[in-house]
Amino acid sequence: MSLKVFTGLPASGKTSTLIDEMISRRESGGRVLLVLSSEHESLTKRPNVKAGGLMGCRDENKSYPIDAVMNSSEAASLLAAQEPGTMVVFDEAQYFKPDLVSSWRSASERAVDILVGTPSEHQLQLLANISHERVHIEVNCSCGRSPASQVLYDKDLTYPLHLCADCHAKQKSDAIASLLAEVRRSEPFPNKLHTYQPFYDLDMEGWALVRTDCPARLNVILDAVSRCDSVGEKLADPLGQASFIDLGCCSGFFSDAMADHGFRSAGVDISKDFIDWASRLANIKAQDVSYVQSDLMSYLTSSAEKRFDVISTFATVQWVMAQSGYEAGLACFEAIFERANSICVVEMGYTAEPIYRDKITDRPTEIDRRWVLNLMEQSGHFDTIELHPTGENGIWRDIFVGFKEPPSSPRIFNDFPATAATQTSNASGYYSDNWVGPELDVGMQADEDVSLVRLDGWCPDECSGATLTMCLSGQTLREVKVQGGKFRIELPYSVAKGGFFEFRVSADKSFKPEGDARELSFILLELGFK
Ligand SMILES: [Zn+2]
Repeated sequence: MSLKVFTGLPASGKTSTLIDEMISRRESGGRVLLVLSSEHESLTKRPNVKAGGLMGCRDENKSYPIDAVMNSSEAASLLAAQEPGTMVVFDEAQYFKPDLVSSWRSASERAVDILVGTPSEHQLQLLANISHERVHIEVNCSCGRSPASQVLYDKDLTYPLHLCADCHAKQKSDAIASLLAEVRRSEPFPNKLHTYQPFYDLDMEGWALVRTDCPARLNVILDAVSRCDSVGEKLADPLGQASFIDLGCCSGFFSDAMADHGFRSAGVDISKDFIDWASRLANIKAQDVSYVQSDLMSYLTSSAEKRFDVISTFATVQWVMAQSGYEAGLACFEAIFERANSICVVEMGYTAEPIYRDKITDRPTEIDRRWVLNLMEQSGHFDTIELHPTGENGIWRDIFVGFKEPPSSPRIFNDFPATAATQTSNASGYYSDNWVGPELDVGMQADEDVSLVRLDGWCPDECSGATLTMCLSGQTLREVKVQGGKFRIELPYSVAKGGFFEFRVSADKSFKPEGDARELSFILLELGFK
């Protein structure tokens, strides 16, 4: 039997060795079949990957025609049909399913010669119990002192530098330092340690950032992913290729992070600098992230066939509206909602914000929380819409998460034992010992029709005479002066079943108890909805 497996670093010469073996077999009159996987975009996106296409290698003069591009079960059938003595070659074998290993074994037992290039970890584990010949191709580090153990990419993901561990650590940190030096020199804050967004998983100590809430926003995405079965199944499958795109990706924080979490990741941004920086970092990290420089409208129009399991768009569509009109923004949202297979994460700049107030001049109505919720609900694309209100874990703006299928579990918050309504956010300004700071803010969703909100509390002497201002969904409903001791405030407020609302109460007095760093105003005994 003959089952030969070639391993080694990327571009170490595995394909070149395979081509030599195929040419030699063909020249001696043997039958040779070269088979590649049709099951992974990393391969299928290459224009040469098709029957009759040429598989090349680093040596430009050396190539071999591909006989078939097929999936794992087709490859298993093809193997079963081969006569003894035929050579069947699987290059980039990691893009076939692990269970193809058993077909390699049975074919090799029938004297079909199997050559495998670049198996996956999982395939190697299965091969451990099977008799085979392993050929590991070593290359030396460019320092010449040690064999290479790692690769570092520069311009693209084709031909890397082969490096030993020491050289890799040094060159990678030099490449990152050079990227950060360029960011420092560039707009939007030239010659300052100041940029818009951090880079994911890089040490940016000392940098001022416009968006400090990137990790909190990433957690919103990851929380949604963790409760979505269809995406979870893809992530668990080595060829599942769960996909993600961030529309308006800036310098790539979310696309990078999601690639790190197992997604085939992409990002689109109008800024050339942002896309260049993000691409450079992806190469340094050897991540196959697809970054595209484009405005949102053109991207959506030119990529109409592309779908993604998870799509995020943070504060981008309001710029489309500012530049191309309200209707253009609506069309973008419809395309985004439609093209998400499972989850849509939306942040929208509201027209109450000073920078947008005078920009979307043709808006028929103000763009606010209610507007986004209505748009998502009325689109009919979502089974469940969750709201993460401004301020939750430090997020800057409301974030809406649309699930196309029911999430496997609801988000659970239980700061308050409320009836008739369910918390949709953590309560900011509320502590587990029932004390409330000068500002309490919590998102709720009505479980049934709500017509009354009741707040029972106890006011300490330090805050006696404080005025409590009650707001529901941004609307101030009442100001009440409370004296020391117990108090009750009841407010009529109508929300239909399923409606989201934000409850906020602020106090104009607070105190710091001894030995306690908190600013406190009153004790919340019960928050009730009826
Ligand atoms: Zn070295």
